[in-house]
Amino acid sequence: MTQRNRILSEPDVLIVGGGIVGSAIFRECARNGLSVQLVESRDFGWDVSAGSTEMAHGGFRYLMALADWPLVFESLTERELLSVNAPHLVRHLNFYMPVYKGDGTTFDFCIPRVPCMPITVGGYFGAGMWMMQAGMILYKVFAALGLIMKGFPPNKDKIGYKKFKKAQMLKIAPQLNPDKLVGGFRFTDCKIEDVERLVIENILSAERYARDTGIAAEAANHAVAEKFETAPDGRVTKVGIRDALTGEVFSCRPKIVVNSTGVLIDRTLEKAGIGEGRELIRKVSGSHIVSPRFLKSPDLTEAYAFWIDKKILFLISKGRDRLLIGTTERDVEVGDGINHNRNFKADIDEITAKTKSRFPEYARDPEKDMYYTRVRPLLRQPGKTDPKAVSRRDLIQWSGKSPNTVSVSGKLGPARHLAEVATKGILAKLKPGAKYATTHKDRYPGGEIEGCMDDCSARLRAAWPDIDPVTLENVARRYGARHAGVLELAKEPRDLDKIVSQPDSQPLCALLFSFKTEHCATLSDAMARTGTHKLFGQGLDGAAKAADYLGEKLGWDAARIKSEIDGYKNFIAERCDTV
Ligand SMILES: Cc1cc2nc3c(=O)[nH]c(=O)nc-3n(C[C@H](O)[C@H](O)[C@H](O)COP(=O)(O)OP(=O)(O)OC[C@H]3O[C@@H](n4cnc5c(N)ncnc54)[C@H](O)[C@@H]3O)c2cc1C
Repeated sequence: MTQRNRILSEPDVLIVGGGIVGSAIFRECARNGLSVQLVESRDFGWDVSAGSTEMAHGGFRYLMALADWPLVFESLTERELLSVNAPHLVRHLNFYMPVYKGDGTTFDFCIPRVPCMPITVGGYFGAGMWMMQAGMILYKVFAALGLIMKGFPPNKDKIGYKKFKKAQMLKIAPQLNPDKLVGGFRFTDCKIEDVERLVIENILSAERYARDTGIAAEAANHAVAEKFETAPDGRVTKVGIRDALTGEVFSCRPKIVVNSTGVLIDRTLEKAGIGEGRELIRKVSGSHIVSPRFLKSPDLTEAYAFWIDKKILFLISKGRDRLLIGTTERDVEVGDGINHNRNFKADIDEITAKTKSRFPEYARDPEKDMYYTRVRPLLRQPGKTDPKAVSRRDLIQWSGKSPNTVSVSGKLGPARHLAEVATKGILAKLKPGAKYATTHKDRYPGGEIEGCMDDCSARLRAAWPDIDPVTLENVARRYGARHAGVLELAKEPRDLDKIVSQPDSQPLCALLFSFKTEHCATLSDAMARTGTHKLFGQGLDGAAKAADYLGEKLGWDAARIKSEIDGYKNFIAERCDTV
């Protein structure tokens, strides 16, 4: 057993896959007194979760399918809960939805058990505006109802919408293409700042529940579940877990196995010899461009959503001077030797063309742009040919071949709700009749701040008057109530040097903090944990500086420093290639 990873030999639950879904289930299990082991083959949240559009949104587009209304309802409710329980990571954005002639007038309307109906309502009487307004009203009602049902008063400022005429829309956003613009709306949705950090908050929260109640909850990264032994009835009896950094192998004999391996869900079942004989997951990739911010407005909470070609194109601030633009939908393969996170030129061109059609002055900047693509693990729905039409509904599938295995997948925003439903099923099997303890009113560790984020930043400025306020704000926005742990590591000026020379960068001591308190084992883990700098040349410029710093603090020799830098370069090359 290594000092780094502790693997429980006989937990109630083994969770394989430490993205947003696995980490959220880990938290729910710990809250409910189940001993639980989480294993992640790379680093927590590194794959799809970190490479998404990072929105906790209701999903305006999903209103077009009646069967998806519960998903929109849950997503809006969870969006608001996240903004209350993790205010340092989740904030409301003001989305403008400019409506162009034809937008929203052609869509697929889907009701359960019937093939989707393509509908065209025509461009008469401002039909697009009426359609969008109907969606806005539903969005508002769902968010308000969801909050009331969870015992929170609905915050009118955050859930309402406003309608604009064309001239008003152009006044707000003069860079918009005026041609065929009809009018527009403003509504709110939330952005998660660096999903990796929310994944870590899930893990820290679970560990705290476990400490409070005396049950065991262990999270191990770089721990690959690779050998599955089953009983004659298909029950998984033993899982071999290999520490990818040390080569050590552990055995785990769980009562229940949760398969939350995202796009690898089907492969994991096959590996365990309990494949369903049909694929549960449809793999649909989506690309993003991260461009220098070309919007003239200095308001970083200003974002855009355009309804183009039956789907939504988002433009969202990423850091102080970047815009995240996306996304696309394309069926892809996932398998050995395939880099499923590769970018497709056609997708990047599609995003560029759509952005230009709405903001004519937009142009790609080959020097500064960055592209990234990830693959959505979507519910496979027979009969749906167009990847755009595939529902984003959750998957909670108890195996037909193995009575103690459940596969779970779903979106980021409502992951807590998904985890709650999945864990209720697990609890019912392990402790029939036990009362479920819900987490919906529990703050995440970093979310335990008094007052709002502005109060938190003001307190930081008063407590650390010698530290640059931008650095303090960056630390507050990622670590929330845990900020003191980072700042107390700043013993000399070097500790506060930025990892990369960009205003959004975290200080070097944040890297050390993640080694000390957040299960970091490699430079790549620490760089991912510290967030936004990954957008600036992927932080490659800062890699040597960061490795030297950590080397000094953690006693790495020259060979270790070099191998950490090489490891980080490989990690980046794998995550973000060019087009
Ligand atoms: C382009 C794009 C944009 C998106 N935008 C949004 C959005 O704005 N809002 C939203 O709510 N959702 C969004 N999504 C969807 C959302 O990101 C995913 O549904 C969600 O992140 C899936 O999380 P997960 O935990 O299931 O998967 P992952 O994050 O992929 O986690 C699965 C983990 O399992 C691990 N694993 C695999 N095999 C093993 C093994 N044998 N042993 C141990 N570990 C293993 C992997 O390393 C991985 O870390 C988007 C998705 C994409 C692709």
